[in-house]
Amino acid sequence: MPLPRLHRIREIGAVWNRNTPPKVRSFCWKLCNYALPTMSKLERRNPEVDDVCPVCKAASEDLLHTFLLYPAARQAWALSDLPWMVISDWKNDVESWFRSVTKKLDSPKGDRALTLCRQLWLNRNRWLWKNGGSSPLEIVARTRWILSDFEEYSCSLNNSVAAPRVSIKINFDGATFADLNSAGVGVIARNSDGVCIGWRKRLVPIRASPEHIELLAAAEAVAFGKEMGWNRIIVEGDCLLAIFQAEGLRGRPVHFW
Ligand SMILES: [Zn+2]
Repeated sequence: MPLPRLHRIREIGAVWNRNTPPKVRSFCWKLCNYALPTMSKLERRNPEVDDVCPVCKAASEDLLHTFLLYPAARQAWALSDLPWMVISDWKNDVESWFRSVTKKLDSPKGDRALTLCRQLWLNRNRWLWKNGGSSPLEIVARTRWILSDFEEYSCSLNNSVAAPRVSIKINFDGATFADLNSAGVGVIARNSDGVCIGWRKRLVPIRASPEHIELLAAAEAVAFGKEMGWNRIIVEGDCLLAIFQAEGLRGRPVHFW
């Protein structure tokens, strides 16, 4: 039984404060808010939808099935170093499960468990949309790779002590409007205290893939920072997290998660 909404909000800190890539955090938020479109959720909205699991086709697809009962998910957990006793402790709902897993596992293991969940979900989507997914071993390997890449990146950030403390963070977002044959890109800049110091949004008259639009939005964020004369900005978005901290926005890595 889902917890009342107010109660759920308390979980938000537990989701957003984790040391995982932004995409894993936003996935966890969706997970805890029952926002993942499992077949059984879709069926509740539209009885004509078949709630059978698109991957194994052997059971109704709900969160418990997707993340724990589905055979390839169980194999992936078994191949990971995460304790099945803790992982399989599903009592009533996904929020209690999330709370118990993040409480009982130490941070690195908890992060691995949540990242693995997201990989299981992405793999399920690959089955659904592309009719083919990865093996449990590949899923576990990808989970480790994503986290080690993220860790390396976080370390490189923490070690750049020469960097001035003050930096400006620009968040970007893109959206496609198929009916208008165009896309929208928006950026918002905040100072190190989190105060909004500028924003911009515009309609782009092109039709492109969501990834392309996200990249356009990222470019818009960089251009905005440049126009404003900010020479040290952090660019962050849902699709890509890019850090530019050299003078004039030159050099520094762009990371994709
Ligand atoms: Zn299944």
